[in-house]
Amino acid sequence: MDDDRASGPLGSPALRVLREQLGRAFGGLAFPGSCLVCDSWAGADRASAGLCDDCRDELLDAAGPACRRCALPVGPFATREDGCGDCSGRRLGFDAALAIGPYHGPIRHLCLRLKSARGAWLAPQLIDILVEARAEELAYADARAVVPVALHPFRHWQRRYNQAEALAQALADRLGLPMVRGLRRVRPTSALWRAGRVERHRQMRGAFQAHRRRLASLAGAPVLLVDDILTTGATCSAASRALKRAGVGSVVAVVIGRAEGRG
Ligand SMILES: [Zn+2]
Ligand SMILES: [Zn+2]
Repeated sequence: MDDDRASGPLGSPALRVLREQLGRAFGGLAFPGSCLVCDSWAGADRASAGLCDDCRDELLDAAGPACRRCALPVGPFATREDGCGDCSGRRLGFDAALAIGPYHGPIRHLCLRLKSARGAWLAPQLIDILVEARAEELAYADARAVVPVALHPFRHWQRRYNQAEALAQALADRLGLPMVRGLRRVRPTSALWRAGRVERHRQMRGAFQAHRRRLASLAGAPVLLVDDILTTGATCSAASRALKRAGVGSVVAVVIGRAEGRG
């Protein structure tokens, strides 16, 4: 924390401690005016955005050049249209992918908070940054609807919350598009984080079915498929294939963080 913030009227050390204690008392909600990432004083004018200038800049800086096909960061002069060294030649179910940036630092921190229902209020903030960082790619997608990756019904019932749906709703609201719950997860999957790329793709095969009736008006149309994190692309690929079997024209996977897959 720099001197400027520490000496502000609500930025004194004692008040900062009070704000943090109040934040914890209110179930992890940040106290108005404090930064969502670093808890420093973000200023009253930033109360709605909830990020201090440093963290916001760090998030937007993370949104550097990325592969159009799999959203992995690439060098500024890389050819991005046909895929990068990581995805070139691999079969992916989606046609393009975009993320704010790599899954570490503040992006990872915010994704972890979004995973619980108490963090649902973060979704519009993250979507604001995504839309600012990836405006060109989103315009190019020219989508007609936003579809969240679905959880298995048992898991959804257990958690009573799906962060992909919170993000999809925020993105739909922001772009003025309908949010369509067009997918059902018909098979639960276990411990995917331990699995390598081949195993993840094998486990996800047939894990989704489409709600054909809900997707009927999207025949041949481009849609945005939303999840929080993209790792090997197995989940978004399986979900995209289910959407395309139901007649959707093309799918752009939209995530907050792009993690590097193993295997
Ligand atoms: Zn901050
Ligand atoms: Zn790629």
